[in-house]
Amino acid sequence: MSEKKVGIILDDDFGSKHLPPYPKPSFISFEHPIRINAILNHLERNKIFKDNRVVKVKPKEIDETILELAHSKYHIETIKKISLIGGGLLDEEVFVTDDTFDLAKKAVGGAIEAIEGVVKNHYTQSFALIRPPGHHAYREKSSGLCIFNNIANSILYLRKKLSYTEKIAIIDIDDHFGDGIAQYFYHDPSVLYFSLHEFDFTQGDIGMFDELGQDEGIGKNINFPVPEGITNEDFYYCLDLLEPILNEFQPALIIVATGFDMYYTDPIGNCSLTSIAYNQFADKFLKIAERVCEGRISFILEGGYDIIGLPYCVEAIIKALLKEKYEPPDYEKNISFVDDSKREELDKIKTFLKNLLKPYWDQL
Ligand SMILES: [Zn+2]
Repeated sequence: MSEKKVGIILDDDFGSKHLPPYPKPSFISFEHPIRINAILNHLERNKIFKDNRVVKVKPKEIDETILELAHSKYHIETIKKISLIGGGLLDEEVFVTDDTFDLAKKAVGGAIEAIEGVVKNHYTQSFALIRPPGHHAYREKSSGLCIFNNIANSILYLRKKLSYTEKIAIIDIDDHFGDGIAQYFYHDPSVLYFSLHEFDFTQGDIGMFDELGQDEGIGKNINFPVPEGITNEDFYYCLDLLEPILNEFQPALIIVATGFDMYYTDPIGNCSLTSIAYNQFADKFLKIAERVCEGRISFILEGGYDIIGLPYCVEAIIKALLKEKYEPPDYEKNISFVDDSKREELDKIKTFLKNLLKPYWDQL
């Protein structure tokens, strides 16, 4: 395929369903339909869809047997039943409403469409603007705002329904560790998982740098935990570690677990990225994808809860995919986070991680 097309997977339901059930019971969540509405309004206002290289695509219609590729029947039935009785809270973060089951299933269909479309050359790159997010969801349970694991489910669909055996790299740039995705592929040498995430070094949390994968998958799970407050420059500095690894791994497809909660005004994350960071990120990894896998890169929305900044971050990525100049909003132009106070700590982490990974990667 020579003509560039960027598939944007969207559906009105993502902007209306799975609404946090306030006030009965009283529950406030940042994972809200307004996130999608804000993004879509912004993209329309900025005439992104007028570009004839951008195609709007609906999520793939899937049935429950597809969810069963990634989740236990018990988990699927639990979500379905709670939706049927009108909803409820599963834990402090996970809420279920009467339409959650349908929307979470549709989110999996959205990720599958985004990834399958790139693999089958329906479009060169894609971005799935879906919710609820997925990277914390486990085979047996929902977790951290996530119901089903959209990315893991899509990869298992490629493997089991399309007999796609090529190597896949996942880059997770959400502020939080994608513990759900990591557990699916921890033993799998055909899937590289790289996560850059904020980490509380004082807690015995998961997502530590010595979690390298197991058995044949060892060296293919790479966690880069960072202290809070990292800047754009820090972000690029950390991601440099990944380039030689991708060159050596030679994936046939790159999937980005695209969380924007490292954005400086995000209400959940504590980092200091601006929208340019996402533009530079997409530019860099599109070039790598063009070199190693014919440009096949698919962005799947995860977190990101600042509804003013989030639409700009999405635009920043789409503009990079279209190879057009991205203009950050005026309110970002007056701020500059020049702060190299984290660099020494990041350097230590990077060196430590590199040494741990050297036995598994010749190019490091
Ligand atoms: Zn997150």
